[in-house]
Amino acid sequence: MMALLEIDDLHVAYGKVEAVKGVSFSVEAGQVVTLIGTNGAGKTSTMRTLSGLLKPAAGQVLFDGERIDGRPAHEIVALGLAHSPEGRRIFPRMTIEENLLLGAYLRRDGDGIDKDVARAYDMFPVLGERRGQAAGTLSGGEQQMLAMGRALMSRPRLLLLDEPSMGLSPIMTRQVMTTVAELRREGMTILIVEQNALAALALADHGHVMETGRLVLSGPASELLHDEEVRKAYLGED
Ligand code: ATP
Repeated sequence: MMALLEIDDLHVAYGKVEAVKGVSFSVEAGQVVTLIGTNGAGKTSTMRTLSGLLKPAAGQVLFDGERIDGRPAHEIVALGLAHSPEGRRIFPRMTIEENLLLGAYLRRDGDGIDKDVARAYDMFPVLGERRGQAAGTLSGGEQQMLAMGRALMSRPRLLLLDEPSMGLSPIMTRQVMTTVAELRREGMTILIVEQNALAALALADHGHVMETGRLVLSGPASELLHDEEVRKAYLGED
């Protein structure tokens, strides 16, 4: 069976700086796969290329058998791949609800959209309580939740989550990870980049360790969690 996402020998460069140097891996439908690694390893560059925000220098990306590398982001979203980006990429002057609805801009099923907005508020109650307020008034962590809620509003077949726990308190990190675990139980396919390697490996099926633009270690997440090198380098153990 063909994987939902197939990445083959992907290269990404910023001018002469090669950030991704030949990365290949796949994500099967229903799997949660995590990319972990140090700062500057090329994880975000990989994610931005998958969602069409960057054009690869070489290599190819297949989504459900169709080539998507180099295609514009809006076409990729329409195919069912949604990206919850790193940082606070929400629209600060628009309300929380307007930000969520932007995620559904390609949909025409009003009832389904209402249901999904309600679901986002169930998932993240703070968003519901403040739905009419400008999104810029949310804390960094809450904005991260809004970005994730907005990505889900397109009902994606593949959700890309880039550092969903960035800037979050331990309690909020747990809440976001619980949400990811719930989505996983519902059968959603997720590719997640995380600085919190322990949390990401605990809920993923498969993991890849990235260093200076290359994958240096790949395997079932449960194995990586017990790998001595991974524990030393990414889980803060001596
Ligand atoms: P982090 O966890 O710190 O976000 P990362 O693994 O996501 O790291 P990237 O953000 O993909 O890594 O960066 C990979 C490399 O590409 C780094 O050396 C970075 O400095 C470089 N880079 C990223 N964005 C740009 C850019 N717009 N212009 C030039 N170089 C860039």
